Amino acid sequence: HQGKAVLVIPEQIVLPSIQIERERVEEEINRYELAVSSLIKEFEVILKRVKDDSANVSAIIETNILYLSDPVIKEAIINIIKRRYSAESAIIQEFDNQKHYFISTKDSLLRDRASEIDQIKERLLSSIRNKCLVHNFPEGTIVVAQSVLPAEVLRFDELKAGGIITEVGGITSHSSILARTFAIPEIIDVQNALNRIKEGDELIIDGYNGFVIVNPDEKFLKKYKERKIAEEEHKKRLGDLVKLDSVTKDGRKVSLLANVDFPKDVGAAILVGAEGIGLVRTEHLVISNAQIPGEDEQFRFYNEIAERAYPKPVNLRIFDLGSDKYAEGLPRREPNPALGLRGMRFLLHRTDLLKTQIKAILRASKNKNVSFMLPMVTTINEVVTVKRIIEACKKELSEKNIDYDTNIPIGLMIETPAAAIISDELAKLCDFFSIGTNDLTQYTLAVDRDNELVLEYFDAFSPAIIRLMKMVVDSAHKNGISVSVCGDLAGHSAATKTLLEIGIDKLSVPSSLLLELKNRVRQTDLQEQEK
Ligand code: PEP
Ligand code: MG
Repeated sequence: HQGKAVLVIPEQIVLPSIQIERERVEEEINRYELAVSSLIKEFEVILKRVKDDSANVSAIIETNILYLSDPVIKEAIINIIKRRYSAESAIIQEFDNQKHYFISTKDSLLRDRASEIDQIKERLLSSIRNKCLVHNFPEGTIVVAQSVLPAEVLRFDELKAGGIITEVGGITSHSSILARTFAIPEIIDVQNALNRIKEGDELIIDGYNGFVIVNPDEKFLKKYKERKIAEEEHKKRLGDLVKLDSVTKDGRKVSLLANVDFPKDVGAAILVGAEGIGLVRTEHLVISNAQIPGEDEQFRFYNEIAERAYPKPVNLRIFDLGSDKYAEGLPRREPNPALGLRGMRFLLHRTDLLKTQIKAILRASKNKNVSFMLPMVTTINEVVTVKRIIEACKKELSEKNIDYDTNIPIGLMIETPAAAIISDELAKLCDFFSIGTNDLTQYTLAVDRDNELVLEYFDAFSPAIIRLMKMVVDSAHKNGISVSVCGDLAGHSAATKTLLEIGIDKLSVPSSLLLELKNRVRQTDLQEQEK
């Protein structure tokens, strides 16, 4: 892609415990006040919308507004900032103070308020942090940044960015996965990009080869224009594959599914001939809203995906929050978030959120084309516990005469070495497996998927990974269940043959990669390999 550069200069991030320089105090007070007033405005808009429908909800929002504008709290926060703490730090300190006060009272009504205070705190913090998201630029612009967050990639997609260049980041980080999903070319690990590229520079970004060309001359412009035409012709030719079967030369059927995160993207998956939606990373609903929505809003989201895909199956993975995806709602900042309260661990710590999501998914399963998928499995016990909670939620819905699929399948993500090693036991507890090669690689090879310094160690083709996957396939087939791969390796051009050889049944990839993959499947001859 060719386009003009826009630079995103990072805001200075201040750790809560570290004191800031005196000169920044004024600026931090402004940041705090701006965040409060924009959040109040946001609440007022919602209030207008719900006022007539729900007295309960509007009462809660009114209390939130009162709380945010409380002069005593405001003064306390400003005083903390004046003692040289950042706005975030001051908000956390004061709100936590308030919370402890509520928790320690004997009045149960007041104790309930404590969790509400936590929610307002989180909203206020994300309002402050989200300020850096308000980029605006013309279509086709190439964003140059130190690093990008998943929420920012969502915004770049809305603005139809032409490319992303970052100084740091990992190839399977969630931001990179999103960029691939939206087919936005991205080059990571471009050292010093923010100094070497100037705002408004003309850039060519070549995602195939990992090149950035700054202010290209005529020769380059001509060359890339020709390549672009050739690429478009290639895409047109791939279009002819939509109607053809996904079978290898020697006749083995391979199901091709799409990874889709938002209802609006289901159409593209169907158009390229996906047989179903192999992975919905539902946490993107949380990331794009900067909060965890309630049951009804979640239901509408899941239901829209299920209805648009119907009758094709949809695997809704329960929230994989934590790690690099979403830090809010966690009890505290963790030193090793990838090894912390992530995925199912977080949900089992917050069973209130887990139940809300399970009920929303169950309601969306009424047409029998929805499955649960559980991320970050490491123990038998977790799976048993979640299954018990699913049963309890089913009972609750039945008592209210709400429709759902009583036989809704449950799939497990195999993305930790532990899960692969005990896959023979896990297979007896579920209806299918889906291998998350991104995390399986991260945890097996002890290599951070978000860290460009160890990029060369992030080798999803390592024999260690292939052997683990083979183990998983054998356990699954012995127990009569299927295995898909939904991590990035599924779409990698060099991996197709190996994955099919070890017996993987289904591959789930971003829609933009599906036809290329079908092309490769159709060119693969497994007999030849067996020899
Ligand atoms: C994976 O880990 O491979 C996976 C599919 O899940 P995510 O990338 O969302 O962690
Ligand atoms: Mg994963």
